[in-house]
Amino acid sequence: MSKNYDVIVVGAGPGGVACGALLAKWGVKTLLVDKNSRIGGKAMTVSKNGFRYEYWPIAACPATNTQIHLLLKTLGLDEDVELIAPDPLGIMHYETPSGKIKTMLMPGGGKPMDPQEAFNLLGIKDADMPEIMRLFTDMLGMSRHDQNLLDDVSVLQFLDRYQIPKSMYSLLATLQSEGTLEVPGDIACASEFVKVFQQNNTYGGGLYPAGGFGRMYEAIAKSAQTNGSDIILRTRVERISVENGRVTGVLTDKGVFQAPIVVSNAGIQPTVLKLVGEEHFDKSYVNYVRDLVPSFGFAGARYFLSKPVLKHPLYVYFADDTISTMEKHLKAEAGQMPERIYVFMSTNSLYPGMAPKGKQLIYTGITCPADPKTNIKPWLDKVEEEIARLWPDVFKYIEEKEYYGSAQISRLSRDSVVPGAGGECIGLGQIVGQCGNLKPSPKAPVGGLFYVGADAGSSGFGNHMCVESGMNVAKLVRDYWATHRLPH
Ligand SMILES: Cc1cc2nc3c(=O)[nH]c(=O)nc-3n(C[C@H](O)[C@H](O)[C@H](O)COP(=O)(O)OP(=O)(O)OC[C@H]3O[C@@H](n4cnc5c(N)ncnc54)[C@H](O)[C@@H]3O)c2cc1C
Repeated sequence: MSKNYDVIVVGAGPGGVACGALLAKWGVKTLLVDKNSRIGGKAMTVSKNGFRYEYWPIAACPATNTQIHLLLKTLGLDEDVELIAPDPLGIMHYETPSGKIKTMLMPGGGKPMDPQEAFNLLGIKDADMPEIMRLFTDMLGMSRHDQNLLDDVSVLQFLDRYQIPKSMYSLLATLQSEGTLEVPGDIACASEFVKVFQQNNTYGGGLYPAGGFGRMYEAIAKSAQTNGSDIILRTRVERISVENGRVTGVLTDKGVFQAPIVVSNAGIQPTVLKLVGEEHFDKSYVNYVRDLVPSFGFAGARYFLSKPVLKHPLYVYFADDTISTMEKHLKAEAGQMPERIYVFMSTNSLYPGMAPKGKQLIYTGITCPADPKTNIKPWLDKVEEEIARLWPDVFKYIEEKEYYGSAQISRLSRDSVVPGAGGECIGLGQIVGQCGNLKPSPKAPVGGLFYVGADAGSSGFGNHMCVESGMNVAKLVRDYWATHRLPH
């Protein structure tokens, strides 16, 4: 194996692997390094007792016409990796103020939600329609330029501009905002919210790669190898070396590798503050990086059931008072959990080959602090209390349980180098003032250093955003490589 490369990609999460595979396809000599034993980062697929499952993602959004489709096609993998958009996707549960639980089927197959069905679920009156239509028309027709004007506006501030009923307000603030951006609505960025709303309402939601997200990322990594890239797993990058303001390679627990370009998928904060070291950056940039706010973490459970309980991949519940705010989160941290929370249950066992016959794995969870040191028990207790109240059948068939929280997320994907950060569910750059045009640049102020993945290079939701970041950053890196090949 070589010790010299054109580009080293640190981390084989969705962004890193997409970026590395494209660079390899374009003839750039690339090394992909990951500390884990498998490809995929937070979207890795693992096996246990005949089940195959992701530690985390349930589904990508949008469902059709995505950057994931485009990447697979570009790499010649569109025949190899099947992308499933299940129809229906699941069931939405809305609890009325009088405590009645109403349900509706959520469409899949790339179809957007039928507004009339949603209005019936939410008890929308004729008199409320003009204002709701004004909001929907504004959101669906909003240009990228106008979205960027919302970079400094929170989701709740944006929704407050419209006089809409509480039930519709909650659907948007909980499922469509907190459920994707993973920060409370009063700090979530409205420009991101509008972008995700447009994507989901144009191309539907609920994309799942057959065999699992991890299988898809493994196929992408394999294509990188076929195109000449080296991949080393179980290898931690300890340092990204910098000389005279330019990167020169990486120091790992398996030795030193050299390259004039390093793309980091390890998160901006760990990259700047630990892998490169703050001495190589301006104080103001270091402060900027420290001030980036992580999305929230996640605490939840996986239940291995002796009998299938769910008929569809996704079940969600919300009520008028499940809108989360920073104040509610701070109270929860102080021990006062809200009475009602937005909660979901999902299963990938309905997809071929993902579970032993007649069994099912169910996955649930709730946002919690991103700090890996958080004691997640109160959040787990709350989510289990709600599952028992809403879907009691689940508890009849549990053969085994697994719990997870911000500590596991951090261990699998990114180091905690700033107090309160590391276990973020999505990444940085999800809040007001740090999104859209204000999202961190993927180009670091050190020659040859780039960031890829959730923190930089794209926007939107989870895996789709990270794959798009991989594609955008690959183009930036290719141009940098093409123009910096002569020694300086
Ligand atoms: C609970 C939960 C639920 C989610 N649900 C969804 C969902 O339903 N849909 C969706 O689309 N998204 C979902 N996501 C989000 C999505 O999975 C992430 O946004 C995405 O995986 C981030 O990708 P990334 O490219 O930033 O890299 P990550 O997935 O963060 O991977 C980073 C990689 O870098 C490697 N690395 C880090 N440091 C080093 C080092 N020093 N040396 C070597 N390697 C290193 C890690 O091992 C890891 O493989 C969920 C996430 C969580 C936690």
